[in-house]
Amino acid sequence: MKYYSTNKQAPLASLKKAVIKGLAGDKGLYMPENIDLLKDFVVGEMKDMTLREIACTVAKALFGDDVDGKTLEKIIDDTLSFDIPVTPIHDNIYSLELFHGPTLAFKDVGARFMARLLGYFITKEGVRDVNVLVATSGDTGSAVANGFLGVEGIKVYVLYPKGKVSPIQECQFTTLGQNITALEIDGTFDDCQALVKSAFMDLEINEHMKLTSANSINIARFLPQSFYYFYAYAQLDKTGKADELVISVPSGNFGNITAGLVANWMGLPIKRFIAANNRNDIFLNYLKTGRYTPRPSVATIANAMDVGNPSNFDRIIDLFSIYPDPHKAITKKIAGYAYTDKEIANTMRKVYTQYGYILDPHGACGYQGLIDNQLNGNETGLFLETAHPAKFKSAVDEILGTNIEIPPTLQAFMKGHKQSVGLSNTFNEFKAYLMNQ
Ligand SMILES: *Cc1c(COP(=O)(O)O)cnc(C)c1O
Repeated sequence: MKYYSTNKQAPLASLKKAVIKGLAGDKGLYMPENIDLLKDFVVGEMKDMTLREIACTVAKALFGDDVDGKTLEKIIDDTLSFDIPVTPIHDNIYSLELFHGPTLAFKDVGARFMARLLGYFITKEGVRDVNVLVATSGDTGSAVANGFLGVEGIKVYVLYPKGKVSPIQECQFTTLGQNITALEIDGTFDDCQALVKSAFMDLEINEHMKLTSANSINIARFLPQSFYYFYAYAQLDKTGKADELVISVPSGNFGNITAGLVANWMGLPIKRFIAANNRNDIFLNYLKTGRYTPRPSVATIANAMDVGNPSNFDRIIDLFSIYPDPHKAITKKIAGYAYTDKEIANTMRKVYTQYGYILDPHGACGYQGLIDNQLNGNETGLFLETAHPAKFKSAVDEILGTNIEIPPTLQAFMKGHKQSVGLSNTFNEFKAYLMNQ
């Protein structure tokens, strides 16, 4: 399989090249050139398959030309060593709990898959010494750092804004050591992101070291997220609930929902999607007006979705560019909603008191999207619960009056010893640091 750039100016790339480069030379995002449609009967058979078997089937369709089957199976085994339950909440509403991985967020799936695929290219294909730069406001850094921990030939630098990530988040990427370095930047998340972008464009740094990114622009982090859409469908199919499936995705950079759209494009029957936003409603405005107007992000309690210029927007446009009126086609397939912190808190309280289910602030947006979309009696609603509520313990406890338990995996991080390198937010200092590595 070859990968093309959404800007159509860069040459086609192999999987290896697309993964190592991250972004195409023309600044576009890579997309798979042709995906064998998984036949209907395969999707129908998935209800008798395990999560591992389903993920292997989808992985072979996507990556089977470039990576042998045995290796893919091994990568899947190492990636999906945890459950992804589909939990009924009430009526025809279900939660897809994507938070049972090592850092308790859905990003574990993509980050672990990417780390292992890169590891394979390094050990088997002579690729050397890759450096992953990742800017984080909290969740991405922990999933990437833990996914890449101990993978030989790869060094990870996590840039995070000093004093602006929660202590629980911070300990998940500052206590690891080995090939993971935490860079504590005296600045904002936007500063961290700008430093990473400048590094990618700096010729001297790129001559000095091989750099790639591990956010959802990277095809190896983005595409594996399609696995669990197939798995969720199969679980609902077992009880005859999958025929008219509506899936609501709490969205920030829109990598997760775009992976669902790819699954749909591969033949998975999903009736429609809901893009649930917090107050950063750039995509909702696009749905309403047909105009895409990025703007600086605003801080909310669902902070992993505080994104003012969703990086996967171009992939959505690209998927629908075969239609004469792409905007119209997008609004037929995707509905959008946006919620204030107050609305998010109200949803969390309502679901907790009525159904005894604890939502995290991101999942709450997804749930409320299904409610506001007013499903008909034949439709099944599934929302993606993207983080364990304990990751947002202080907000959740304050809103619900609870004292929720911190899972043992998270407690273990909190006992670790913090190690980080303090840097100012100037590019010169960051560059000097990298040139010394
Ligand atoms: C990253 C993240 C999101 C947003 O996912 P995108 O793929 O960027 O749209 C939603 N919820 C949580 C908990 C996250 O960590």
